[in-house]
Amino acid sequence: MAAAVSESERYFKRALKVSPGGVHSPVRAFSSVRESPLFMHSANGSSLTDMDGRSYTDYCMAFGPLILGHRDPLVAAAAEAAINDGWSYGTAECWSLELAELISSRIQWAEQIRFVNSGTEAVMSALRLARAVTKRERILKFSGCYHGHTDAMLIEAGSGLAGTPASAGIPNSVARDTLVLPLDDIDQLKHVFSDHGAELAAAIIEPIPANYGLLLQKPAFLRELRALCSRYGVMLIFDEVISGFRTAFGGCAEELDIEPDLVTWGKIIGGGFPVGAYAGRSHIMQRIAPVGDVYQAGTLSANPLAMRAGLATLCQLTDGAVYEKLEQLGAQLDTELAATDQVQLIRKGSIFWLHLSNSTPLPRARDAISQSHAHAYPELFTALLKTGIYFPPSPYEVSFLSAAHTPQNITDLAQTIFQTTEKSAIP
Ligand code: PLP
Repeated sequence: MAAAVSESERYFKRALKVSPGGVHSPVRAFSSVRESPLFMHSANGSSLTDMDGRSYTDYCMAFGPLILGHRDPLVAAAAEAAINDGWSYGTAECWSLELAELISSRIQWAEQIRFVNSGTEAVMSALRLARAVTKRERILKFSGCYHGHTDAMLIEAGSGLAGTPASAGIPNSVARDTLVLPLDDIDQLKHVFSDHGAELAAAIIEPIPANYGLLLQKPAFLRELRALCSRYGVMLIFDEVISGFRTAFGGCAEELDIEPDLVTWGKIIGGGFPVGAYAGRSHIMQRIAPVGDVYQAGTLSANPLAMRAGLATLCQLTDGAVYEKLEQLGAQLDTELAATDQVQLIRKGSIFWLHLSNSTPLPRARDAISQSHAHAYPELFTALLKTGIYFPPSPYEVSFLSAAHTPQNITDLAQTIFQTTEKSAIP
């Protein structure tokens, strides 16, 4: 008898006809876990429910924005209020002001903030600003860091220092201006600055690289990068689209007390609504239009719905209680997974990544993901799904804890991982 076709499969078949790959962002297609994508219907707290009515404890959490979980009551109330008051004015309004004031009051060097619609847009705008300020064109980035899909950032390490396009449609001229270095390598960093420092407009890095597994960097590496940028007049951009407000209110910059010249944010800052932002000292940000000569604009920028949801989210992060709770859940996961050596848990606060291997990976892209991990991940993903646990549908994506997760969720997760890896000898 043929297996019954699920609602998700039915929707996917229809979606394939009207959208490339049936999805609107590639990882949602589930191709790297060899599954057909789930179509979700609703979500609440730590749980997602699909179109077939099956519920899953969610550790993807929309890829990071939902630090408080799905449908947090205060965020929901703020969003409902925004709907009642009208959700787009195309004018100045008070919500972006309040959000900017809240952030500036706690992150002193973020003296001025510009809200945009996505992390990609924030990075694109910050790079333009850095080029304008320095009157230089080249950018340094690090292999394994993701900064959205602008041309200049979709460049991967080629055979030499100059990058090669990681996508069709990117001009070689753009690739030539993007230099790519491995993470965690102070010697190479010093060499590149001594050879090319005077040509660089910006060095951009995820200070907590979380887009190729979780590649935790030594503070000394980030401090050296800061020092070299200062010495050579290069703008240091911390891309904290994931880590901002996630590991601490002020992200990695706060934790390490490193002041970047510009920061980019997204995800949490909009409470789960489309958002991005970039920020820095006033004398830099004053170069942006309408006061300055760097043009950047947006019909839906600082959309009131996103601003109010972001404000309701960030207000709940100011007293530190949420971070404490998240750390407790994370520590519980450390303890409960300590019994297996088949899986390495790499964790920073509420961001975590399971490396399916018995060795700890080096914090560098090409060394991070063992073949066995990439090979074994689909099996773990499917086993988790069957027991009602939703993980990111890619071996490269990190997972997230939220304030809506419970100690019982963590125990269930650890047990399922334990059973799956022991039973099937993953990896
Ligand atoms: N920067 C980082 C560090 C990211 O993780 C992402 C997306 O995941 C982006 C930038 C791009 O953000 P968005 O997807 O909102 O364009």
